[in-house]
Amino acid sequence: MIIDCHGHYTTAPGELQAFRDAQIAAFNGRGATPDVNKLAISDDQIRESLEKAQLKLQRERGTDLTIFSPRASAMAHHVGDEAVSLAWTRVCNDLINRVVNLYPDNFVGVCQLPQSPGVSPTNSAVELERCVKEFGFIGCNLNPDPSGGHWTSPPLTDRHWYPFYEKMVELDVPAMVHVSSSCNANFHATGAHYINADTTAFMQFIQSDLFKDFPTLRFIIPHGGGAVPYHWGRYRGLAQDMKRPPLAESVMKNVFFDTCVYHQPGIDLLTRVIPVENILFGSEMVGAVRGIDPTTGFNYDDTKRYIDALAIPAEAKQAIFEGNVRRIFPRLDARLKQRAA
Ligand SMILES: [Zn+2]
Repeated sequence: MIIDCHGHYTTAPGELQAFRDAQIAAFNGRGATPDVNKLAISDDQIRESLEKAQLKLQRERGTDLTIFSPRASAMAHHVGDEAVSLAWTRVCNDLINRVVNLYPDNFVGVCQLPQSPGVSPTNSAVELERCVKEFGFIGCNLNPDPSGGHWTSPPLTDRHWYPFYEKMVELDVPAMVHVSSSCNANFHATGAHYINADTTAFMQFIQSDLFKDFPTLRFIIPHGGGAVPYHWGRYRGLAQDMKRPPLAESVMKNVFFDTCVYHQPGIDLLTRVIPVENILFGSEMVGAVRGIDPTTGFNYDDTKRYIDALAIPAEAKQAIFEGNVRRIFPRLDARLKQRAA
């Protein structure tokens, strides 16, 4: 089985964005707040939005199941206020639940969180619990920078985040560290802000004893871990200079990287530097980079090809494609075992 740990509903019907536009307009004093109950998206619209995109690509590329969450760039936690963020988040998560119910063999849900700059992450725990317990979601996307590129929140290792981590541990779900769009013109969202955040989160983890406090807490750093694998020597050396424990002890029991790296040399480096047990297959389709690489003739984000081409044992590929994902997402593992029984 091939499980893609990183997919977003980037192709949702236009009614969703229309709702969001009306919501933001109302927040800015133009028009009434849209009624969630009047957001009319039919099952056929959902099917159509996926059949031509994510489902088509699953079939073409030979992947089986995608861990699916709302469009990350649209989370935009910096827009509106806490109430706006909560209403928007619930709408997006409800829609993912409908996708999962229509295609239970192809998708499993991961939720967006109702974060807001300056608001305690404690408030996000309620929505996480709703999605896990009511919908059977298996994880969440946690935004380390709800300000959208201004980094006004404390580091992920600060006690500010602890009440939310307690809920993650209680529910036994991991979080993907995933920023949203950038409202800082210096940082292009997917080209800079995403990769910055991935790299930033990893350095924060090195500097703290977070995983001593939460030994079972698990994070996936997407986009291949940002710049981390390429600069592995720097991080090992910094930990050493700071008298921190080796990375294998302090961080790598709790932190995992996906394979959303869009060329063969990048995947070669990732798998050479990072232990296989810390790598989860992911493609982020349909996502950040949608085109075809003229040097290969295949889509940049067809990351399965790069793993297929690796000169590593079959068991290692199996771990990346399935075993590690099931280990990091125990609720998914339980579901798949139940389905097979
Ligand atoms: Zn993503």
